[in-house]
Amino acid sequence: MIAAAAWQGSRLGALSDFCYSQVEQPVTKLPRRILEQEASLIVTSSTLSAKTTRRVFNFNAGPGALPLPVLERVRAELLDWRGSGMSVMEMSHRSPEFLSIITAAEQNLRSLLGVTDDYAVIFLQGGGSMQFTMAPMNLCLPGKPVDVLHTGVWTAKAIGELKKGTLYNLAASTESEKFTRLPRKDEIKLSPDASYVHICTNNTIEGTQWSVLPETGGVPLVADMSSDIASRRIDVNKYGLIFACAQKNLGPSGVTVVIIRKDLAERAEKNLPTIMQYRTHIKEKSLYHTPPTFAVYIVGLVLEWIESAGGVAAIEKRNDAKAKLLYDTIESSAGFYRCPVENGSRSKMNVVFRVAGGDEAIEKQFAAEAAALGLAGTPGHRSVGGLRVSLYNAVTLEAVEALTSFLREFHRTRG
Ligand code: PMP
Repeated sequence: MIAAAAWQGSRLGALSDFCYSQVEQPVTKLPRRILEQEASLIVTSSTLSAKTTRRVFNFNAGPGALPLPVLERVRAELLDWRGSGMSVMEMSHRSPEFLSIITAAEQNLRSLLGVTDDYAVIFLQGGGSMQFTMAPMNLCLPGKPVDVLHTGVWTAKAIGELKKGTLYNLAASTESEKFTRLPRKDEIKLSPDASYVHICTNNTIEGTQWSVLPETGGVPLVADMSSDIASRRIDVNKYGLIFACAQKNLGPSGVTVVIIRKDLAERAEKNLPTIMQYRTHIKEKSLYHTPPTFAVYIVGLVLEWIESAGGVAAIEKRNDAKAKLLYDTIESSAGFYRCPVENGSRSKMNVVFRVAGGDEAIEKQFAAEAAALGLAGTPGHRSVGGLRVSLYNAVTLEAVEALTSFLREFHRTRG
């Protein structure tokens, strides 16, 4: 009953595109003690009723917005996952229930992204950052460098780990231009014998995104897809390894998705720490140790939501429309707003811009006024300043329309 009320009461409550059948709790059969606990929850001041829940338009860069229907579903299932009588948080990771959750999440990811059988899909911990260490540990061949396409803070972090003893080559860098564009084809100097090429497909902080992948011949491409996985269609076969922390487009923080060509996982020396070998997690189907079960569960729900929204192609179309609306608004402001990123390199996930020629006081005011109106998360990364709006999959067109109205109004009153 509590859950049913919650389903009805959400502010944006458009659940029609993502409906599960509700598992009704046989309330009358519950032991008295449980009924009393439920009743006391309703009146606890820390328990918000669905009607008083205030949801903002969330443009955070990560952790970022999650689809509302997913959160609604998590709430509905929180105490009793589909008749199991327990929360997913309380389940054994080896129980048939959790096995069904993790298997479905993997299968959904495979079908949404078109992952073939020669690739493994594993769920790890350690975030995107651990992959900066794990990828070279596992994939480097003796005497063969890692080629890096250096495009911002996150490739700098990857390079930082390579510097600790791995042979690497800066195949291209746009640092001298403050990473306001991606390297052009003729600037990329790949080694003929590289172990792999490291690329960050979407630079979350600088607001750049590769739209055409560099040609690497037979050399595997290792892609940090943390901030644009599942936001657009990709050809997985073009990559040797894809990794992505979940907290932008796939779910909450705590789980990292790795898609790896199975033969590449066999490059690793067997005396590497067991937990640091991809082959361990492939062999054990992500259950070598206790995985972040609740995060995996939510990733599974997000993938179901993507499927119900029409799959990655439909999500991509929506993302294109959102980005176009925001960039067009910036471009039509006669320079009041300015995106520093070169046109062909602009990200559809993270839109960075300056206000009034980079006047920090006005930018601060912009972010504060936006937040007061329920447009949260617009300040840029602390390392670069300015504004940054993240348009991850769960951010609706309605949210971007509200934001662009605010941009126009702020310009009108301050321009
Ligand atoms: N790569 C990219 C592109 C990112 O945006 C981030 C996080 N913002 C990371 C890696 C690091 O992820 P984590 O914080 O999960 O280690």
